[in-house]
Amino acid sequence: MTKSNVIIDQTEKYGANNYHPLPIVISKAEGVWVEDPEGNKYMDMLSAYSAVNQGHRHPKIIAALKEQADRVTLTSRAFHNDQLGPWYEMICKLTNKEMALPMNTGAEAVETAIKAARRWAYDVKGVADNQAEIIACIGNFHGRTMTAVSLSSEEEYKRGFGPMLPGIKLIPYGDLDALKNAITENTAAFLIEPIQGEAGIVIPPEGFLKKAYETCKENNVLFIADEIQAGLARSGKMFACEWEDVDPDMYILGKALGGGVFPISCVVANNEVLGVFNPGSHGSTFGGNPMACAVSIASMDVLVEEKLAERSLQLGDYFKAKLKEITNPIIKEVRGRGLFIGVELTEPARKYCEALKEEGLLCKETHDTVIRFAPPLVISEEDLDWAIERIKKVLG
Ligand code: PLP
Repeated sequence: MTKSNVIIDQTEKYGANNYHPLPIVISKAEGVWVEDPEGNKYMDMLSAYSAVNQGHRHPKIIAALKEQADRVTLTSRAFHNDQLGPWYEMICKLTNKEMALPMNTGAEAVETAIKAARRWAYDVKGVADNQAEIIACIGNFHGRTMTAVSLSSEEEYKRGFGPMLPGIKLIPYGDLDALKNAITENTAAFLIEPIQGEAGIVIPPEGFLKKAYETCKENNVLFIADEIQAGLARSGKMFACEWEDVDPDMYILGKALGGGVFPISCVVANNEVLGVFNPGSHGSTFGGNPMACAVSIASMDVLVEEKLAERSLQLGDYFKAKLKEITNPIIKEVRGRGLFIGVELTEPARKYCEALKEEGLLCKETHDTVIRFAPPLVISEEDLDWAIERIKKVLG
């Protein structure tokens, strides 16, 4: 019995069965490469669902973590800490917004965004008590909390967890008329992933984001962009909304905000929106902790200094073109922006992900028939060539 098998057995015996991982144990990682306890190396093509955009254990981020660990790790928000102020300024300047509110996980940031939008509807827009509505999109993924699953169109995400949160309307992703029809005087916000990640790297029809934003403005509705997965350089722009020059009223960020090193998420918006919170209305023991802030500042520095958005754009075009050269009738479509690429098959993708693993490439199927290719953005062209050779062997 290998060490990996022992660990997998242990995980299956004692862990709640809420995931279906590929049978590989990762015990070491650096850059785009990970290693199992037996010393086998694999290229990471998932980046922990885009949390490791900066590459595994980026030296600058690890240095920030270690330095902060030697000073102070947690204060709670009962007191100030010396990393939170600089982090606020950094994230506001990066997003060109006036205010931020830090949380820990993506789903918590989505919760925060919904709370902010509802309170904004009552306090600023003047919606009658308890009538605020949120419009979201079919196929969305905003996390696994009760609010996030209430937003979902996936029955399996909701089964056995009811009752769901009221005040939610769903429209088909990319359908402008449906958005217009769904808006009422009670609509607080339109919540959208500018590229749907978990749905299988789905890009809205050209012009939709811009027109949806304008529709929101015309109707005094907040446009909230969940950029937890598509943002922070993944799609070839710092924010995926930039693909259509949209400046959302609120960004929801997470994942790569902590460089894959420490959990941190946030919402950022202007005063008019985030100003609705007052002491006692929202919070988190760990939200804004100095470890997360120090790591996040270093993580955003890496994105900017290493021009990872530009890199993602350029290498994404290269990789996509190579993927499109593979001819096989089971490949229905190759799509994506930057190094955020989905290869949709005509059949379930799991067995191809398992075969790719045997070739040394770690990918995960999403939405059954899509293989997602989203390597750390520090990947080189040579590494991508190495990957293409293996993908050709499995899919060619
Ligand atoms: N929103 C989007 C677009 C996501 O892709 C995810 C996670 O995949 C989430 C929210 C939830 O983030 P977390 O898993 O950190 O709660």
